[in-house]
Amino acid sequence: MSLSSAALSAGRATLRLWRSAAWRQGATFGSRRLQQAPLVAQAQQQAGRPQQQGGPGRRAASSAALPEPVAAAAAAAAPPVAAEQHTHLQPPPARQQQQQQQDSAAHGAIEIVVGPMFAGKSTELLRRVARYEAEGLCVAVVKSDKDDRYCAAHVVTHSGIKRPCFAVPTLAAFKAAAGAAYAGFQVIAVDEAQFFPDLREFCAHAADHEHKRLILAGLDGDFQRQRFGQVLDLLPLADSVTKLSARCKFCAQEQRRTAAVFSLRIAADSRQELVGGADVYAPVCRRHYVQLTSVRQHGGAESDGGAGGAA
Ligand SMILES: [Zn+2]
Repeated sequence: MSLSSAALSAGRATLRLWRSAAWRQGATFGSRRLQQAPLVAQAQQQAGRPQQQGGPGRRAASSAALPEPVAAAAAAAAPPVAAEQHTHLQPPPARQQQQQQQDSAAHGAIEIVVGPMFAGKSTELLRRVARYEAEGLCVAVVKSDKDDRYCAAHVVTHSGIKRPCFAVPTLAAFKAAAGAAYAGFQVIAVDEAQFFPDLREFCAHAADHEHKRLILAGLDGDFQRQRFGQVLDLLPLADSVTKLSARCKFCAQEQRRTAAVFSLRIAADSRQELVGGADVYAPVCRRHYVQLTSVRQHGGAESDGGAGGAA
């Protein structure tokens, strides 16, 4: 109920915005404005009817408001507009910028941070959390209860930074656990996002209709470089995507510093979901991923550091 009224009020705001644009077009025609008025009214009517979700009605209306010949004539004539009117119709840049920030806050957003194991995803998540909290926003941190590596009730980075969180099996369970407090959260940070079976549905709804800012940190691929959970399904819905890299463990042993973009599983277990740390996974570069995976597939000659074996 509140949703549909929110959608309606957003629709009305869009319509108001469009109307002011149409009026501006009318205003620039100077003496033609009176003749334009019925056209604008007609366009507004057209926009009003099928407008609900923006879309075709809106496009039809804007072309009706400004037929090409009229637009050309207006551009050629370019009559002066009264200063007072101009100020009213075109807000100064600072005001526009402020408005844009408010719009962005009101619309919600999805930020995605992906990368292999040990790339600093949780650290980046908590860094963004701290930044939003410093701006005065109310933030909830959520992680999957499957991840109990360091502490069940905290997000803990590999470097030891801790932050209390909701540890839940699904994001619906987080919403239920938060109860009345949920409405107050402006930012929701989700760690190990690949483990949530309702990730896409929850995030799309929370960003689009509840105006939440989601920060998601998780694996984009598993140890076989296959998609992991629903993180990739959110790319088309995301405002920003950041892929972090770690440092290749085996290049480091050769005194070389190479970016690791894949997670190599060094434990003998083929389940996709196997929570573990440095005893189970190693961040590797492409060369080492291919080399060591091939070793594993062909019957497991051991490599130094106990990494290759285990087939
Ligand atoms: Zn390497």
